Amino acid sequence: MRFTNVKGCSDLRAKYPKLPVVHVSDLNSYRYCRRKWDFCSYMRQNLERVDEPIEAFWFGTGIHFGLEDLHGYKEFPSAAAAFEFFVMATEGSRPDTWREALELGKAMLDYYELEWLTNRRDYQTVWIDKTPLVEVDFQCLIRRNGRPFAIFEGIFDGVLKDAYHRFWLAEYKTAKRMSTSGKLENDTQITAYTYAAEKIFGTQFEGIVHQQHLKDTPSIPQVLKTGGISKNKQIKTTFALYKKALVDYYGEGKIPSDYDEMLNMLLENEQENGNGFVWRNLVRRNPMELASFEKHLIMMVSEMISKKLPIYPNSSHMAGCMCDFKSVCLAMDEGSDYGFILDNEFARRDRDKRTDWRAKAAELGQKIKKGGEN
Ligand code: SF4
Repeated sequence: MRFTNVKGCSDLRAKYPKLPVVHVSDLNSYRYCRRKWDFCSYMRQNLERVDEPIEAFWFGTGIHFGLEDLHGYKEFPSAAAAFEFFVMATEGSRPDTWREALELGKAMLDYYELEWLTNRRDYQTVWIDKTPLVEVDFQCLIRRNGRPFAIFEGIFDGVLKDAYHRFWLAEYKTAKRMSTSGKLENDTQITAYTYAAEKIFGTQFEGIVHQQHLKDTPSIPQVLKTGGISKNKQIKTTFALYKKALVDYYGEGKIPSDYDEMLNMLLENEQENGNGFVWRNLVRRNPMELASFEKHLIMMVSEMISKKLPIYPNSSHMAGCMCDFKSVCLAMDEGSDYGFILDNEFARRDRDKRTDWRAKAAELGQKIKKGGEN
């Protein structure tokens, strides 16, 4: 959805067609390597690879869709069901590994919805005009010396309110490894989105609920052939699952005390902010940080739009960089035909393609609903 119903926010691209449009990815890629930014930025060549979809990106989009439905309209019976519809709707563009990904995604979302959330304080999604603020395409006008200067765009995963009526943004991530601390103090996206939210809503935002979902699910502890339940401390499980396995095996109130150590260890892993499978970091930004961000944003965009801006690679990290444009970049510097690679492996990014599976997922959902009603 677009924030057309929030004061001061309309389709800014249509209103100011000559203004540069900036995303967080532009700021990050510009700082990382100007040549990369030149290839991928909407402000420049706006290119993306045309081959195989990147599995991690596809999977993350599906998980976001499940969370969006769960914390929004709840049009699907569960977050896992929404994920399944996403997988069906992306037939033809999904990676070859989609079957395993389907099982993993459903299990991750079921765990989150049916267990993790039920034991924790939740945040309420903010609704405006009967619309839940989930997966919100936002635009925000940046002014320089009082004049419109640039459009800053992005997507809020959610706009939330806590029990003390404070506003937060939601940011969901899927991760192979969970990071429970650090790294977020300097995260540009967190600063940029908090800044944009305050501008759009005209109210103070506490910060961002940065929620990581491990790409794994807790396992049911093994019943040993010799009797009893495994006490292997490496097992990926949760306190609730382990306790349930013990109760199923020994009966309520009859769990032997030699499981206390294991139970205590698992209980210590359960915190208000999460456990090893889903973890929330609450990240705040103060007004000074937001003002500094605005100053730096204007400086960077001023450089980006300069006609004299030199474009060169950041070869100091070329050897190890995971850049989509590496083959083009190397070909450019060794004098090979890089235009051939660009023509055959890349195309201009299509803004609408990003979401064209949504209509199909909704249509499939409606069909199933009607089938169930008949
Ligand atoms: S390969 Fe490295 S140096 Fe070349 S464009 Fe990509 S990030 Fe820049």
